[in-house]
Amino acid sequence: MTKPMVVSGAGIGGLCTALALIQRGFEIIVCEQASELREVGAGVQLSPNGTRVLASLGVLDELRAVAVEAEAKEIRLWNSGETWPLFDLGAAAMTEYGFPYLMVHRGDLQAVLATAVERAAPGTIRLGAEVVDVRDHGDFASAILADGRSVDGRLVIGADGIHSRIRSRTLGAGDAAFTGCIAWRGVVPSDRLPARLRRAVGANWVGPGRHVVTYPLRRGELVNFVGVVERGGWETESWTARGSREDCAKDFAGWHEDVHALIDNIDVHYRWALMTRPPIEHWSSGNVVLVGDACHPMLPFMAQGAVMAIEDAVLLARAIESHRDDLATAIRTYESLRVERANRCVRAADRNREIFHNDRLTDRADATRYVSTQWSEAKIRERYHWLFSYDAVSCPLEC
Ligand SMILES: Cc1cc2nc3c(=O)[nH]c(=O)nc-3n(C[C@H](O)[C@H](O)[C@H](O)COP(=O)(O)OP(=O)(O)OC[C@H]3O[C@@H](n4cnc5c(N)ncnc54)[C@H](O)[C@@H]3O)c2cc1C
Repeated sequence: MTKPMVVSGAGIGGLCTALALIQRGFEIIVCEQASELREVGAGVQLSPNGTRVLASLGVLDELRAVAVEAEAKEIRLWNSGETWPLFDLGAAAMTEYGFPYLMVHRGDLQAVLATAVERAAPGTIRLGAEVVDVRDHGDFASAILADGRSVDGRLVIGADGIHSRIRSRTLGAGDAAFTGCIAWRGVVPSDRLPARLRRAVGANWVGPGRHVVTYPLRRGELVNFVGVVERGGWETESWTARGSREDCAKDFAGWHEDVHALIDNIDVHYRWALMTRPPIEHWSSGNVVLVGDACHPMLPFMAQGAVMAIEDAVLLARAIESHRDDLATAIRTYESLRVERANRCVRAADRNREIFHNDRLTDRADATRYVSTQWSEAKIRERYHWLFSYDAVSCPLEC
């Protein structure tokens, strides 16, 4: 009997990979360490290169029903609140890219994906199944679970995030390192906010040494807040922690009242250490292959980490479908299509740190000049068009 494919991790990357493979007729087992699927209470932005894939997985309509379709994104200056257009995501963008830019609660996205997986192949997702090791036997691989059992698969696919156990057991990479940035995260019920902060528009507030990203979620019922601050050190052991409203407000002292209106109305202020690893050129070893943050963690400053995981999923599935009797070639094909693009995105996110947190944003007159050049129409197109226009669903498989 043919063995299934085993996916470690039921995050965005793992669930999309499972769905894309099930769609192509493969049997899948997803092992998820958590005992229930519960994503952090925060949002994720999905640009058209990601929603195109989600449409091909048959989940776009369900997602649209719980998301917010962005009309635009704006750049705002940290102290004056002055506003510049970032993307117009209205009709023109829909015509150009063919798919919407969605803003969605992570829990809603994970629920839509998990439901679609279970609908297509009931019993695929195994909860409370922590993968602690992986063994490659030459013609198949085994995921070893914390309780000692093992799950055999033609491939073991590591979709287990930035602290990937599969990656450390196969590629021997060291620990993820602190980037020097922490992120405050929280959601605000929109009925606590003035109308101007409830529009279907995302805002990137930029300032010296920090920035804030806000956008509506869940049919507009919530507004997402992410506030990134450059910090010398990370003082707690755990990589997420509850902080206080006062500390969050202090980190944005002197920032515009709209930013403080959001901070004041968040119920729980979470602090995350932003971690990363240097880009790598190979994402596989024998019958083990990685997708998502396991192979290309990045700073969230392009809003593309999850979208890259979604692109990985469909391209890995397409490569496996097209080389189903020669999985080594399938994996080579997948890597040849993905590594350069994802690593380019990792570097672009690093560069955005310098652009978003630039010291030239300190002085208002200079800041206005700086923003007008950094976010000119030409610069925005140069930074984002190559991402949004990509078609992972039907691009040729051989480069
Ligand atoms: C502040 C912030 C904002 C962001 N905003 C955006 C955005 O707007 N747009 C965007 O595209 N990206 C964004 N990202 C990036 C995005 O969140 C990640 O890139 C994405 O979640 C990666 O998905 P993944 O499935 O690879 O990993 P994860 O989401 O980390 O999922 C990994 C899964 O594997 C499970 N797991 C881990 N270890 C094991 C194990 N040993 N055994 C079994 N299961 C295991 C975990 O429980 C989890 O369910 C943001 C990130 C941050 C920090």
